[in-house]
Amino acid sequence: MSLALYRKYRPENFENLVGQDVVQTTIKNAIQFNKLAQAYVFSGPRGTGKTSTARLIAKALNCEALVDGFSPCDKCEFCVDIAKGNLMDVVEIDAASNNGVDHVRDLVDKINFAPTRSKYKVYIVDEVHMMSKGAFNALLKTLEEPPEYVYFILATTEIHKIPETILSRCQRFDFKRIGNDDIRDRLKVVAESEGFEFEIEALEMIARFVNGGMRDALVALEKLAVVGKITVSLVRDNLGISDFRECKKMMDLLLGRNMAEAMEFVGALYEEGTDLRQFLKDFIEVGRDMLLESVNAGGGDILRIMEIIDLAIDAGQMFGKTSIVQLPLEIMVVKACGEGVSVGRPPVKDAGRPPVKDAVLKERVITAAVAKRVKPVEKTVKEEPRLEVKVSSGHAAKGADVPSLDEVRRSWTLIADSVVTPSLKMSIKTLDVLSVEDGILKIGVNSTFHLEKVSSGVRDLEAAIQKSKGWVLRVQFTLIEKARDFQRIEPSESPRVPYSENQEKSSSDSVDLALDMFGGEVVN
Ligand SMILES: [Zn+2]
Repeated sequence: MSLALYRKYRPENFENLVGQDVVQTTIKNAIQFNKLAQAYVFSGPRGTGKTSTARLIAKALNCEALVDGFSPCDKCEFCVDIAKGNLMDVVEIDAASNNGVDHVRDLVDKINFAPTRSKYKVYIVDEVHMMSKGAFNALLKTLEEPPEYVYFILATTEIHKIPETILSRCQRFDFKRIGNDDIRDRLKVVAESEGFEFEIEALEMIARFVNGGMRDALVALEKLAVVGKITVSLVRDNLGISDFRECKKMMDLLLGRNMAEAMEFVGALYEEGTDLRQFLKDFIEVGRDMLLESVNAGGGDILRIMEIIDLAIDAGQMFGKTSIVQLPLEIMVVKACGEGVSVGRPPVKDAGRPPVKDAVLKERVITAAVAKRVKPVEKTVKEEPRLEVKVSSGHAAKGADVPSLDEVRRSWTLIADSVVTPSLKMSIKTLDVLSVEDGILKIGVNSTFHLEKVSSGVRDLEAAIQKSKGWVLRVQFTLIEKARDFQRIEPSESPRVPYSENQEKSSSDSVDLALDMFGGEVVN
Protein backbone atom coordinates (compact mmCIF):
# COMPACT_ATOMS: atom_id res chain seq x y z
CA MET A 1 0.00 0.00 0.00
CA SER A 2 2.69 2.46 -0.91
CA LEU A 3 0.26 4.42 -3.04
CA ALA A 4 -2.73 5.98 -1.29
CA LEU A 5 -5.84 4.01 -2.13
CA TYR A 6 -7.72 6.95 -3.48
CA ARG A 7 -4.93 7.57 -5.98
CA LYS A 8 -4.50 3.93 -6.81
CA TYR A 9 -8.22 3.46 -7.44
CA ARG A 10 -8.83 6.72 -9.18
CA PRO A 11 -11.12 5.91 -12.11
CA GLU A 12 -8.94 5.34 -15.17
CA ASN A 13 -11.93 4.89 -17.46
CA PHE A 14 -15.54 6.01 -17.58
CA GLU A 15 -16.85 2.68 -16.31
CA ASN A 16 -15.13 3.24 -12.98
CA LEU A 17 -16.51 6.72 -12.60
CA VAL A 18 -19.14 5.99 -10.00
CA GLY A 19 -22.44 7.73 -9.43
CA GLN A 20 -22.31 10.41 -12.13
CA ASP A 21 -24.37 8.85 -14.89
CA VAL A 22 -25.54 12.05 -16.57
CA VAL A 23 -22.09 13.61 -16.65
CA GLN A 24 -20.58 10.35 -17.79
CA THR A 25 -22.97 9.83 -20.70
CA THR A 26 -22.80 13.42 -21.89
CA ILE A 27 -19.02 13.50 -21.89
CA LYS A 28 -18.70 10.09 -23.54
CA ASN A 29 -20.95 11.30 -26.34
CA ALA A 30 -19.04 14.56 -26.67
CA ILE A 31 -15.77 12.64 -27.07
CA GLN A 32 -17.25 10.17 -29.51
CA PHE A 33 -18.75 12.86 -31.73
CA ASN A 34 -15.87 15.25 -31.32
CA LYS A 35 -18.04 17.83 -29.60
CA LEU A 36 -16.02 18.56 -26.47
CA ALA A 37 -16.26 22.15 -25.31
CA GLN A 38 -13.01 24.00 -24.83
CA ALA A 39 -13.92 25.10 -21.34
CA TYR A 40 -15.80 23.20 -18.67
CA VAL A 41 -16.66 24.03 -15.13
CA PHE A 42 -17.30 21.05 -12.86
CA SER A 43 -19.10 21.87 -9.65
CA GLY A 44 -19.98 19.55 -6.80
CA PRO A 45 -19.00 18.34 -3.34
CA ARG A 46 -15.50 17.07 -2.67
CA GLY A 47 -14.64 13.55 -3.69
CA THR A 48 -17.38 13.20 -6.29
CA GLY A 49 -15.09 12.64 -9.27
CA LYS A 50 -14.51 16.11 -10.71
CA THR A 51 -10.74 15.95 -11.17
CA SER A 52 -10.91 12.28 -12.11
CA THR A 53 -13.30 13.16 -14.91
CA ALA A 54 -11.07 16.04 -15.95
CA ARG A 55 -8.15 13.63 -16.24
CA LEU A 56 -10.26 11.22 -18.26
CA ILE A 57 -11.03 14.01 -20.70
CA ALA A 58 -7.33 14.89 -20.92
CA LYS A 59 -6.54 11.25 -21.69
CA ALA A 60 -9.36 10.90 -24.18
CA LEU A 61 -8.20 14.02 -26.02
CA ASN A 62 -4.64 12.75 -26.37
CA CYS A 63 -5.06 8.97 -26.47
CA GLU A 64 -3.71 7.33 -29.60
CA ALA A 65 -6.07 4.36 -29.56
CA LEU A 66 -9.47 5.23 -28.08
CA VAL A 67 -11.58 2.17 -27.33
CA ASP A 68 -15.16 2.34 -28.68
CA GLY A 69 -14.45 5.87 -29.80
CA PHE A 70 -14.52 7.38 -26.30
CA SER A 71 -12.60 5.29 -23.79
CA PRO A 72 -8.89 6.00 -23.19
CA CYS A 73 -6.81 2.89 -23.95
CA ASP A 74 -4.65 3.26 -20.82
CA LYS A 75 -1.77 1.72 -22.75
CA CYS A 76 -0.41 4.36 -25.11
CA GLU A 77 2.37 6.67 -23.92
CA PHE A 78 -0.03 9.57 -23.42
CA CYS A 79 -2.51 7.63 -21.32
CA VAL A 80 0.30 6.22 -19.21
CA ASP A 81 2.05 9.55 -18.73
CA ILE A 82 -1.15 11.41 -17.88
CA ALA A 83 -2.04 8.75 -15.31
CA LYS A 84 1.40 9.25 -13.74
CA GLY A 85 1.23 13.03 -14.01
CA ASN A 86 4.23 13.06 -16.33
CA LEU A 87 2.80 14.76 -19.38
CA MET A 88 3.83 18.42 -19.46
CA ASP A 89 0.90 19.35 -21.66
CA VAL A 90 -1.63 18.34 -19.07
CA VAL A 91 -1.28 20.84 -16.26
CA GLU A 92 -3.03 20.47 -12.94
CA ILE A 93 -3.26 23.57 -10.80
CA ASP A 94 -4.55 23.70 -7.28
CA ALA A 95 -5.84 27.25 -6.96
CA ALA A 96 -6.08 26.78 -3.20
CA SER A 97 -2.33 26.27 -2.84
CA ASN A 98 0.08 29.11 -2.12
CA ASN A 99 1.48 29.25 -5.60
CA GLY A 100 -1.90 28.92 -7.31
CA VAL A 101 -1.80 32.51 -8.51
CA ASP A 102 1.71 32.08 -9.92
CA HIS A 103 0.58 28.98 -11.74
CA VAL A 104 -2.33 30.77 -13.31
CA ARG A 105 -0.04 33.61 -14.40
CA ASP A 106 2.39 31.06 -15.81
CA LEU A 107 -0.51 29.33 -17.56
CA VAL A 108 -1.61 32.55 -19.19
CA ASP A 109 1.96 33.39 -20.24
CA LYS A 110 2.50 30.04 -21.89
CA ILE A 111 -0.91 29.60 -23.38
CA ASN A 112 0.27 30.55 -26.83
CA PHE A 113 2.95 27.89 -26.99
CA ALA A 114 1.74 24.81 -28.81
CA PRO A 115 1.81 21.50 -26.92
CA THR A 116 5.21 19.85 -26.81
CA ARG A 117 4.42 16.19 -27.45
CA SER A 118 0.69 15.67 -27.46
CA LYS A 119 -2.12 17.03 -29.59
CA TYR A 120 -3.81 19.10 -26.90
CA LYS A 121 -2.91 21.09 -23.84
CA VAL A 122 -5.32 20.56 -20.99
CA TYR A 123 -5.43 22.84 -17.97
CA ILE A 124 -7.19 21.45 -14.94
CA VAL A 125 -7.72 24.09 -12.28
CA ASP A 126 -8.95 22.63 -9.00
CA GLU A 127 -10.68 24.74 -6.33
CA VAL A 128 -10.91 27.48 -8.93
CA HIS A 129 -13.11 29.61 -6.66
CA MET A 130 -9.99 30.32 -4.58
CA MET A 131 -8.40 32.37 -7.36
CA SER A 132 -7.91 36.08 -6.85
CA LYS A 133 -9.81 38.64 -8.86
CA GLY A 134 -6.65 39.36 -10.84
CA ALA A 135 -6.19 35.70 -11.66
CA PHE A 136 -9.81 35.42 -12.77
CA ASN A 137 -9.35 38.40 -15.07
CA ALA A 138 -6.24 36.90 -16.60
CA LEU A 139 -8.04 33.60 -17.07
CA LEU A 140 -11.03 35.34 -18.57
CA LYS A 141 -8.92 36.78 -21.38
CA THR A 142 -7.70 33.36 -22.40
CA LEU A 143 -11.18 31.89 -22.11
CA GLU A 144 -12.53 34.49 -24.51
CA GLU A 145 -10.41 33.25 -27.36
CA PRO A 146 -8.52 30.12 -26.44
CA PRO A 147 -6.08 28.67 -28.98
CA GLU A 148 -7.67 25.65 -30.63
CA TYR A 149 -5.25 23.23 -28.96
CA VAL A 150 -6.14 24.37 -25.42
CA TYR A 151 -8.83 22.91 -23.16
CA PHE A 152 -9.79 24.17 -19.73
CA ILE A 153 -11.47 22.24 -16.97
CA LEU A 154 -12.25 24.27 -13.89
CA ALA A 155 -13.35 22.36 -10.80
CA THR A 156 -14.99 23.87 -7.74
CA THR A 157 -16.89 22.98 -4.62
CA GLU A 158 -18.31 26.51 -4.45
CA ILE A 159 -19.79 27.44 -7.78
CA HIS A 160 -21.41 30.61 -6.43
CA LYS A 161 -17.97 32.14 -5.96
CA ILE A 162 -17.13 31.92 -9.66
CA PRO A 163 -17.73 35.17 -11.55
CA GLU A 164 -20.58 35.06 -14.03
CA THR A 165 -18.22 36.23 -16.77
CA ILE A 166 -16.22 33.01 -16.34
CA LEU A 167 -19.27 30.75 -16.04
CA SER A 168 -20.83 32.14 -19.19
CA ARG A 169 -17.83 30.94 -21.17
CA CYS A 170 -17.85 27.41 -19.82
CA GLN A 171 -20.06 24.40 -20.21
CA ARG A 172 -21.17 23.45 -16.75
CA PHE A 173 -21.61 20.04 -15.13
CA ASP A 174 -22.94 19.53 -11.64
CA PHE A 175 -21.54 16.49 -9.88
CA LYS A 176 -23.90 14.90 -7.40
CA ARG A 177 -23.01 13.39 -4.07
CA ILE A 178 -22.38 9.73 -4.72
CA GLY A 179 -25.09 7.44 -3.38
CA ASN A 180 -24.32 5.31 -0.32
CA ASP A 181 -24.89 2.09 -2.26
CA ASP A 182 -22.48 3.14 -5.00
CA ILE A 183 -19.84 4.01 -2.44
CA ARG A 184 -20.34 0.74 -0.58
CA ASP A 185 -20.02 -1.24 -3.81
CA ARG A 186 -16.87 0.58 -4.81
CA LEU A 187 -15.38 0.06 -1.34
CA LYS A 188 -16.16 -3.62 -1.68
CA VAL A 189 -14.34 -3.83 -5.02
CA VAL A 190 -11.32 -2.03 -3.58
CA ALA A 191 -11.30 -4.03 -0.33
CA GLU A 192 -11.52 -7.30 -2.23
CA SER A 193 -8.74 -6.48 -4.64
CA GLU A 194 -6.54 -5.29 -1.76
CA GLY A 195 -7.29 -8.49 0.15
CA PHE A 196 -8.80 -6.67 3.14
CA GLU A 197 -11.02 -8.61 5.49
CA PHE A 198 -14.29 -6.80 6.02
CA GLU A 199 -17.94 -6.94 7.04
CA ILE A 200 -20.24 -5.51 4.40
CA GLU A 201 -22.19 -3.62 7.10
CA ALA A 202 -18.97 -1.89 8.07
CA LEU A 203 -18.52 -0.68 4.50
CA GLU A 204 -22.10 0.59 4.59
CA MET A 205 -21.30 2.57 7.72
CA ILE A 206 -18.28 4.14 6.05
CA ALA A 207 -20.44 5.02 3.05
CA ARG A 208 -22.97 6.79 5.24
CA PHE A 209 -20.26 8.53 7.18
CA VAL A 210 -18.57 10.19 4.19
CA ASN A 211 -21.73 11.83 2.95
CA GLY A 212 -21.28 11.18 -0.75
CA GLY A 213 -17.52 11.66 -1.10
CA MET A 214 -15.64 8.73 -2.61
CA ARG A 215 -12.19 10.03 -1.76
CA ASP A 216 -13.05 10.34 1.93
CA ALA A 217 -14.47 6.83 1.82
CA LEU A 218 -11.26 5.38 0.40
CA VAL A 219 -9.12 7.32 2.87
CA ALA A 220 -11.24 5.95 5.73
CA LEU A 221 -11.04 2.43 4.34
CA GLU A 222 -7.29 2.63 4.15
CA LYS A 223 -6.92 3.88 7.72
CA LEU A 224 -9.19 1.16 9.07
CA ALA A 225 -7.50 -1.60 7.09
CA VAL A 226 -4.22 -0.80 8.83
CA VAL A 227 -5.85 -1.63 12.18
CA GLY A 228 -7.24 -4.99 11.16
CA LYS A 229 -10.40 -6.63 9.90
CA ILE A 230 -12.88 -3.93 8.97
CA THR A 231 -15.78 -4.67 11.28
CA VAL A 232 -18.79 -2.70 12.42
CA SER A 233 -17.28 -2.15 15.84
CA LEU A 234 -13.95 -1.07 14.37
CA VAL A 235 -15.72 1.53 12.27
CA ARG A 236 -17.81 2.65 15.19
CA ASP A 237 -14.83 3.00 17.48
CA ASN A 238 -12.61 4.73 14.96
CA LEU A 239 -14.97 6.99 13.10
CA GLY A 240 -17.12 7.71 16.13
CA ILE A 241 -20.27 6.75 14.27
CA SER A 242 -23.08 4.58 15.46
CA ASP A 243 -23.98 1.16 14.28
CA PHE A 244 -27.08 1.93 12.28
CA ARG A 245 -28.54 -1.38 13.31
CA GLU A 246 -28.60 0.01 16.84
CA CYS A 247 -30.39 3.14 15.65
CA LYS A 248 -32.83 0.93 13.82
CA LYS A 249 -33.36 -1.16 16.92
CA MET A 250 -34.09 1.95 18.96
CA MET A 251 -36.59 3.10 16.37
CA ASP A 252 -38.33 -0.28 16.43
CA LEU A 253 -38.55 -0.19 20.22
CA LEU A 254 -40.07 3.29 20.14
CA LEU A 255 -42.47 2.41 17.35
CA GLY A 256 -43.56 -0.56 19.43
CA ARG A 257 -43.83 1.70 22.51
CA ASN A 258 -41.60 -0.69 24.33
CA MET A 259 -40.56 1.69 27.07
CA ALA A 260 -38.84 -0.66 29.48
CA GLU A 261 -36.64 -2.24 26.84
CA ALA A 262 -35.86 1.09 25.22
CA MET A 263 -34.79 2.47 28.60
CA GLU A 264 -32.53 -0.51 29.14
CA PHE A 265 -31.13 -0.02 25.67
CA VAL A 266 -30.22 3.60 26.43
CA GLY A 267 -28.49 2.40 29.58
CA ALA A 268 -26.56 -0.21 27.62
CA LEU A 269 -25.45 2.34 25.03
CA TYR A 270 -24.26 4.59 27.82
CA GLU A 271 -22.33 1.82 29.51
CA GLU A 272 -20.70 0.78 26.24
CA GLY A 273 -19.35 4.30 26.04
CA THR A 274 -21.34 5.21 22.94
CA ASP A 275 -21.26 8.90 22.12
CA LEU A 276 -24.95 9.52 22.75
CA ARG A 277 -25.00 12.86 21.00
CA GLN A 278 -23.66 11.22 17.84
CA PHE A 279 -26.04 8.33 18.34
CA LEU A 280 -28.96 10.72 18.38
CA LYS A 281 -27.75 12.40 15.19
CA ASP A 282 -27.47 9.03 13.48
CA PHE A 283 -30.81 8.00 14.93
CA ILE A 284 -32.43 11.02 13.32
CA GLU A 285 -30.83 10.09 10.02
CA VAL A 286 -32.13 6.55 10.27
CA GLY A 287 -35.53 7.97 11.19
CA ARG A 288 -35.46 10.13 8.10
CA ASP A 289 -34.62 7.14 5.91
CA MET A 290 -37.53 5.23 7.41
CA LEU A 291 -39.80 8.21 6.94
CA LEU A 292 -38.89 8.46 3.27
CA GLU A 293 -39.43 4.72 2.87
CA SER A 294 -42.86 5.00 4.47
CA VAL A 295 -43.77 7.96 2.29
CA ASN A 296 -42.69 6.07 -0.82
CA ALA A 297 -44.60 3.01 0.27
CA GLY A 298 -47.62 5.26 0.76
CA GLY A 299 -48.50 4.80 4.37
CA GLY A 300 -47.60 2.88 7.45
CA ASP A 301 -46.06 4.73 10.31
CA ILE A 302 -45.50 8.14 8.72
CA LEU A 303 -47.04 10.24 11.48
CA ARG A 304 -45.59 8.11 14.20
CA ILE A 305 -42.08 8.26 12.74
CA MET A 306 -42.43 12.02 12.33
CA GLU A 307 -43.43 12.31 15.95
CA ILE A 308 -40.38 10.32 17.04
CA ILE A 309 -38.01 12.33 14.85
CA ASP A 310 -39.48 15.47 16.34
CA LEU A 311 -38.86 14.18 19.85
CA ALA A 312 -35.32 13.22 18.87
CA ILE A 313 -34.66 16.75 17.61
CA ASP A 314 -35.99 18.14 20.90
CA ALA A 315 -33.75 15.72 22.78
CA GLY A 316 -30.75 16.90 20.77
CA GLN A 317 -31.34 20.43 21.97
CA MET A 318 -31.34 19.19 25.53
CA PHE A 319 -27.69 18.11 25.48
CA GLY A 320 -25.57 20.63 27.29
CA LYS A 321 -28.49 21.68 29.46
CA THR A 322 -28.01 18.66 31.67
CA SER A 323 -24.95 16.95 33.07
CA ILE A 324 -26.66 13.56 32.83
CA VAL A 325 -25.73 12.59 29.30
CA GLN A 326 -28.30 9.85 28.92
CA LEU A 327 -31.19 12.01 30.15
CA PRO A 328 -32.15 13.54 26.77
CA LEU A 329 -32.47 10.06 25.27
CA GLU A 330 -34.40 8.81 28.28
CA ILE A 331 -36.87 11.66 28.04
CA MET A 332 -37.24 10.96 24.34
CA VAL A 333 -37.99 7.31 25.12
CA VAL A 334 -40.56 8.14 27.77
CA LYS A 335 -42.31 10.65 25.56
CA ALA A 336 -42.22 8.42 22.50
CA CYS A 337 -43.56 5.44 24.40
CA GLY A 338 -45.79 7.43 26.71
CA GLU A 339 -48.99 7.60 24.74
CA GLY A 340 -50.98 4.41 24.66
CA VAL A 341 -49.08 2.51 27.32
CA SER A 342 -50.52 2.00 30.72
CA VAL A 343 -48.19 3.35 33.33
CA GLY A 344 -48.67 1.66 36.66
CA ARG A 345 -48.45 3.43 39.98
CA PRO A 346 -45.09 3.24 41.65
CA PRO A 347 -45.09 0.38 44.15
CA VAL A 348 -45.59 1.55 47.70
CA LYS A 349 -43.12 0.35 50.27
CA ASP A 350 -44.34 0.17 53.83
CA ALA A 351 -41.01 0.44 55.50
CA GLY A 352 -37.39 1.18 54.73
CA ARG A 353 -35.91 2.70 51.62
CA PRO A 354 -37.27 1.34 48.38
CA PRO A 355 -34.78 -0.66 46.33
CA VAL A 356 -32.92 1.36 43.72
CA LYS A 357 -34.91 -0.23 40.92
CA ASP A 358 -38.16 1.08 42.35
CA ALA A 359 -36.70 4.53 42.81
CA VAL A 360 -35.65 4.58 39.18
CA LEU A 361 -39.06 3.34 38.10
CA LYS A 362 -40.74 6.03 40.14
CA GLU A 363 -38.61 8.69 38.56
CA ARG A 364 -39.53 7.39 35.13
CA VAL A 365 -43.20 7.35 35.97
CA ILE A 366 -43.00 10.93 37.14
CA THR A 367 -41.36 11.97 33.90
CA ALA A 368 -44.01 10.05 31.99
CA ALA A 369 -46.76 11.79 33.87
CA VAL A 370 -45.22 15.18 33.25
CA ALA A 371 -44.85 14.34 29.59
CA LYS A 372 -48.50 13.37 29.39
CA ARG A 373 -49.63 16.36 31.30
CA VAL A 374 -48.18 18.40 28.48
CA LYS A 375 -50.61 16.92 25.97
CA PRO A 376 -53.89 18.36 27.29
CA VAL A 377 -52.27 21.78 27.47
CA GLU A 378 -51.25 21.45 23.84
CA LYS A 379 -54.83 20.67 23.02
CA THR A 380 -56.11 23.84 24.64
CA VAL A 381 -54.15 25.69 21.99
CA LYS A 382 -55.92 23.74 19.29
CA GLU A 383 -59.34 24.44 20.84
CA GLU A 384 -60.11 20.75 21.16
CA PRO A 385 -62.23 19.20 23.89
CA ARG A 386 -59.96 18.99 26.84
CA LEU A 387 -59.37 17.62 30.23
CA GLU A 388 -57.43 20.05 32.31
CA VAL A 389 -55.34 19.15 35.24
CA LYS A 390 -55.57 21.73 37.90
CA VAL A 391 -52.16 21.78 39.41
CA SER A 392 -52.70 24.57 41.89
CA SER A 393 -54.02 23.96 45.36
CA GLY A 394 -55.23 27.49 46.02
CA HIS A 395 -58.64 28.90 45.18
CA ALA A 396 -59.13 31.07 42.17
CA ALA A 397 -59.64 34.74 42.89
CA LYS A 398 -63.07 36.26 42.45
CA GLY A 399 -64.32 39.64 41.29
CA ALA A 400 -62.42 42.65 42.55
CA ASP A 401 -59.28 40.69 43.41
CA VAL A 402 -58.59 40.06 39.72
CA PRO A 403 -55.93 42.36 38.28
CA SER A 404 -55.93 43.43 34.65
CA LEU A 405 -53.58 41.89 32.12
CA ASP A 406 -51.62 45.14 32.02
CA GLU A 407 -51.23 45.21 35.78
CA VAL A 408 -49.86 41.68 35.78
CA ARG A 409 -47.45 42.44 32.97
CA ARG A 410 -46.20 45.58 34.68
CA SER A 411 -45.60 43.66 37.89
CA TRP A 412 -44.03 40.64 36.22
CA THR A 413 -40.40 41.29 37.18
CA LEU A 414 -41.44 41.99 40.76
CA ILE A 415 -43.43 38.75 40.82
CA ALA A 416 -40.60 36.74 39.30
CA ASP A 417 -38.21 38.11 41.90
CA SER A 418 -40.45 36.75 44.63
CA VAL A 419 -40.19 33.22 43.25
CA VAL A 420 -38.22 31.09 45.67
CA THR A 421 -36.44 28.66 43.32
CA PRO A 422 -33.50 30.54 41.72
CA SER A 423 -33.47 28.70 38.37
CA LEU A 424 -37.21 29.14 38.07
CA LYS A 425 -36.89 32.85 38.73
CA MET A 426 -34.88 33.33 35.56
CA SER A 427 -37.22 31.18 33.47
CA ILE A 428 -40.34 32.94 34.71
CA LYS A 429 -38.99 36.33 33.70
CA THR A 430 -38.75 35.29 30.07
CA LEU A 431 -42.32 33.97 29.78
CA ASP A 432 -45.22 35.72 28.08
CA VAL A 433 -48.26 36.59 30.15
CA LEU A 434 -51.13 35.82 27.79
CA SER A 435 -54.33 36.57 29.69
CA VAL A 436 -56.03 36.95 33.05
CA GLU A 437 -59.58 35.66 33.11
CA ASP A 438 -61.80 34.27 35.85
CA GLY A 439 -58.87 34.18 38.22
CA ILE A 440 -56.78 32.16 35.81
CA LEU A 441 -53.48 33.55 34.68
CA LYS A 442 -52.41 32.05 31.36
CA ILE A 443 -48.73 32.01 30.58
CA GLY A 444 -47.19 31.03 27.25
CA VAL A 445 -44.22 28.70 27.07
CA ASN A 446 -42.49 27.97 23.79
CA SER A 447 -41.09 24.48 24.23
CA THR A 448 -42.15 21.28 25.92
CA PHE A 449 -38.77 21.19 27.62
CA HIS A 450 -39.37 24.60 29.11
CA LEU A 451 -42.94 23.69 29.94
CA GLU A 452 -41.86 20.72 32.01
CA LYS A 453 -39.39 22.86 33.83
CA VAL A 454 -41.76 25.65 34.78
CA SER A 455 -44.72 23.36 35.43
CA SER A 456 -42.97 21.95 38.45
CA GLY A 457 -42.84 25.43 39.91
CA VAL A 458 -46.48 26.34 39.50
CA ARG A 459 -47.15 26.61 43.23
CA ASP A 460 -43.99 28.56 43.79
CA LEU A 461 -45.18 31.06 41.19
CA GLU A 462 -48.70 31.29 42.60
CA ALA A 463 -47.25 31.93 46.02
CA ALA A 464 -44.94 34.58 44.60
CA ILE A 465 -47.89 36.36 42.99
CA GLN A 466 -49.78 36.37 46.24
CA LYS A 467 -46.78 37.41 48.30
CA SER A 468 -45.69 40.27 46.06
CA LYS A 469 -49.06 41.62 44.91
CA GLY A 470 -51.70 40.00 47.09
CA TRP A 471 -53.46 38.52 44.06
CA VAL A 472 -54.82 35.02 44.34
CA LEU A 473 -54.49 33.61 40.86
CA ARG A 474 -54.42 30.15 39.43
CA VAL A 475 -51.53 29.76 37.01
CA GLN A 476 -51.89 27.83 33.79
CA PHE A 477 -49.04 27.25 31.38
CA THR A 478 -49.85 26.98 27.70
CA LEU A 479 -47.54 25.63 25.08
CA ILE A 480 -47.18 28.10 22.24
CA GLU A 481 -46.48 25.85 19.32
CA LYS A 482 -43.60 26.60 17.04
CA ALA A 483 -44.34 26.38 13.35
CA ARG A 484 -42.64 23.23 12.18
CA ASP A 485 -42.15 22.44 8.55
CA PHE A 486 -43.73 19.06 8.41
CA GLN A 487 -46.81 20.08 10.31
CA ARG A 488 -48.08 21.54 7.10
CA ILE A 489 -48.54 18.06 5.67
CA GLU A 490 -50.18 16.72 8.78
CA PRO A 491 -53.72 15.60 8.01
CA SER A 492 -56.53 17.19 9.96
CA GLU A 493 -57.48 14.05 11.88
CA SER A 494 -55.70 13.47 15.10
CA PRO A 495 -52.66 11.27 14.50
CA ARG A 496 -53.41 9.42 17.70
CA VAL A 497 -56.70 7.96 16.52
CA PRO A 498 -55.33 4.41 16.17
CA TYR A 499 -54.48 4.40 19.83
CA SER A 500 -57.79 5.72 21.07
CA GLU A 501 -58.83 2.52 22.85
CA ASN A 502 -55.81 2.81 25.07
CA GLN A 503 -55.77 6.52 25.25
CA GLU A 504 -58.74 7.00 27.50
CA LYS A 505 -57.46 4.60 30.05
CA SER A 506 -53.91 5.78 29.98
CA SER A 507 -54.73 9.45 30.07
CA SER A 508 -57.01 9.04 33.05
CA ASP A 509 -54.30 6.96 34.68
CA SER A 510 -51.75 9.63 34.11
CA VAL A 511 -54.10 12.30 35.36
CA ASP A 512 -54.59 10.31 38.53
CA LEU A 513 -50.86 10.04 38.88
CA ALA A 514 -50.34 13.70 38.28
CA LEU A 515 -53.01 14.50 40.84
CA ASP A 516 -51.39 12.21 43.34
CA MET A 517 -48.09 13.86 42.85
CA PHE A 518 -49.12 17.46 42.58
CA GLY A 519 -52.12 17.36 44.86
CA GLY A 520 -54.59 18.93 42.47
CA GLU A 521 -58.07 18.16 41.23
CA VAL A 522 -59.70 17.68 37.87
CA VAL A 523 -61.75 20.55 36.46
CA ASN A 524 -63.93 20.21 33.40
ZN1 LIG B 1 -4.31 5.82 -24.82
